[in-house]
Amino acid sequence: MNEAASADTGAPAGPTQDFPAFLDMGGRRVVVVGGASSARRKLARLVDCGARIEIIAPAPDEAMLACVAEHDLHLHQRDWLADDFRGVCLVVAASDDAQLDAAVANAAQAAGCWVNVANQPRISSFLIPSLIERSPLQVAVSSGGTSPVLARLLAARIDAYLPRTYGELGKLAQRYHERIRRKFGSPRQRRRFWEQMLNGRVGELILQNRPAQADTLLEQALQDTLGDADRGEVYLVGAGPGDPDLLSFRALRMMQQCDVVLFDRLVSEPVMALVNPRAEHIYVGKQRRDHAVPQASINSLLVSHARRGRRVLRLKGGDPFIFGRGGEEIETLAAHGIAFQVVPGITAAAGCASYAGIPLTHRDHAQSCLFVTGHLKDGTVDLDWPALARSRQTVVIYMGLVGLPVICQQLIRHGLPATHPVAIVSQGTLHNQQVLTGTLADLPEQVRREAITPPTLIIVGEVVRLREKLAWFETRA
Ligand code: SAH
Repeated sequence: MNEAASADTGAPAGPTQDFPAFLDMGGRRVVVVGGASSARRKLARLVDCGARIEIIAPAPDEAMLACVAEHDLHLHQRDWLADDFRGVCLVVAASDDAQLDAAVANAAQAAGCWVNVANQPRISSFLIPSLIERSPLQVAVSSGGTSPVLARLLAARIDAYLPRTYGELGKLAQRYHERIRRKFGSPRQRRRFWEQMLNGRVGELILQNRPAQADTLLEQALQDTLGDADRGEVYLVGAGPGDPDLLSFRALRMMQQCDVVLFDRLVSEPVMALVNPRAEHIYVGKQRRDHAVPQASINSLLVSHARRGRRVLRLKGGDPFIFGRGGEEIETLAAHGIAFQVVPGITAAAGCASYAGIPLTHRDHAQSCLFVTGHLKDGTVDLDWPALARSRQTVVIYMGLVGLPVICQQLIRHGLPATHPVAIVSQGTLHNQQVLTGTLADLPEQVRREAITPPTLIIVGEVVRLREKLAWFETRA
């Protein structure tokens, strides 16, 4: 940051990194030189930290005067003097005059102060980072002065990712700090306890804004360190249709804090890559004919891992409550008194429709939309055909690839025209997404000719025609 400073102190040459630190400014003197917007921006941060702030500005603007009054700051309405920096901890030069600021920096450094100069990181001896506030937690981001814009962008990303309630975890730690210190003699035990609380159900309850329940559980854990808080929990999480960008923040959080993950074939590789790499990975995938792991065994795996006190991630393609048997799995958990939570995912219908440019409803073409399973059993598909073969609605068929010819025949037999539009989306939302469109009469033949890889989703309805105008995803490549 400050080449001049290191030359002065005779520090060894070569690239160095700034030393990140959080300073207790309570009662310390800070001088800000400048009376307009740059100085005000710097002040915004300083007024929160309890420093004794003096502002030196011969002609402060209206907003600065208001800021001085609001925060009860000390204003010297005159030019700065070298004497102003004696006994001062930090100096901020933000007068909007680069030469004046440089002179302030020189004088302040000569007086032994740390100096920040607005827009001149090279002559600053400390930088003010971009900040993400989750009081009492603070995350500071610095680019070492190379690009404040980049630092701000990164801070915005972290800000978006961190739950708003994250700071409440810090408040919980403050509330219980003393009792936990007394209860656990060794720092190691304390650390383990806190890790369990903050990473486990207590932490989750806090993030869900349920502090009373969190306190109850933590109290229990304090009474009995092998109590409820140590018991495991199951996260039933929807992984969406494939594109990892479609995961929810909550899904990602569960994925990163689990101890073990049970997943099947539908969960895409890019999504799996985001699961905690230290977690045990258990594949419980089902192939169409060959049920690799029977449902009952999956249910009991969930129970037994949770009973061992582990955080179990049950990761499911799409949404767990849409053709996902999520309901059955948590019924078992509920019956065994195991804690669980459910995180919705973007179901294949929503994901594939968006990425194929086919709106599922449309004022002119479809007032309703049905989701059905086209799973073939004994050569037939058991569906309410008269209800499906209606105009002005969209029908989305999951698991329908093998049954496609039967499905199209039945829809025609029950009254839809042979020219009715239908689309099939393969590997929806992934980079190799493929979409074929046609009619009830010709799509099965098209699918036979092309090599279509599962998973595939079928969309039947007038809305399919809109794809001609609205396709965006494949064309971007
Ligand atoms: N719970 C899942 C559905 C599970 S059933 C969800 O909400 O999406 C499995 C079926 O979902 C597959 O046979 C296929 O019809 C559909 N499917 C899931 N992901 C898909 C994808 N990326 N592209 C196309 N179809 C998909």
